[in-house]
Amino acid sequence: MSKKIYLYGNWKMNNTYSETEKFFAEFEGAYAPYKNDANLEVGIFAPFTSLWPLSQGAQKCGIVYGAQNVYYEPKGAFTGEISIPMLQEYKVTHIILGHSERRHIFLESDEVIAKKTKAVLDAGMIPVFCYGETLEERESGNTFSVMERQLKSVLNGLTSAEVEKIIYAYEPVWAIGTGKTATPDQAEEVCGWSRKLIGDDKVVILYGGSVKGSNAKELLSMKDIDGALVGGASLKPASFLEIYAAYKG
Ligand code: PEP
Repeated sequence: MSKKIYLYGNWKMNNTYSETEKFFAEFEGAYAPYKNDANLEVGIFAPFTSLWPLSQGAQKCGIVYGAQNVYYEPKGAFTGEISIPMLQEYKVTHIILGHSERRHIFLESDEVIAKKTKAVLDAGMIPVFCYGETLEERESGNTFSVMERQLKSVLNGLTSAEVEKIIYAYEPVWAIGTGKTATPDQAEEVCGWSRKLIGDDKVVILYGGSVKGSNAKELLSMKDIDGALVGGASLKPASFLEIYAAYKG
């Protein structure tokens, strides 16, 4: 039996409310041929202001949907933040945490990301935990020590059931939004290494970094890569679904 593929789209700060409605008007038909494919799980992660049309469109199509960040406190004096209970009213089930843009532009620390991950797990939701090295860290031979720090900081103190619930996304920073993709061997090396470090064969590990139709087959065919977290190519239904079509093709 072929493996299950997770195709998750991270829209980042793209797609307004009305653009999200337009996306789903097109996506519904484009997704119809894949809707009953038990080996495919599609998810879309939109900005907070697009969560309502996202929730409507995603529920209609039967796909997973989520947010790109959340704060770990349930309420209070945290100007500009969004809480887990706020997201639960939109029936959000999945939340991206630790994306490299949160780490590097908004300076989120391992400690904050770990607190957010624990809060999301405690709420019965699924964290999509991103980790990965910068080009400088790779070139100085620190890829694995950096990722070990990022992974251990989040795994520390979790039960094995919690560890298994997290969806992991290896995203080398140098491959995100740059058009540079890790080679299938580079991505597989890290995903296989991560699985050993996490110590659980069953965890889901995605690769992210300039995934598109033209490189999807090689990447998604690797043993330790369970799917893709896709930025740019997820903004249009055709380029997003083309990734799975290319893998199957
Ligand atoms: C991402 O946003 O997580 C990502 C991998 O982006 P892109 O596919 O555009 O490189």
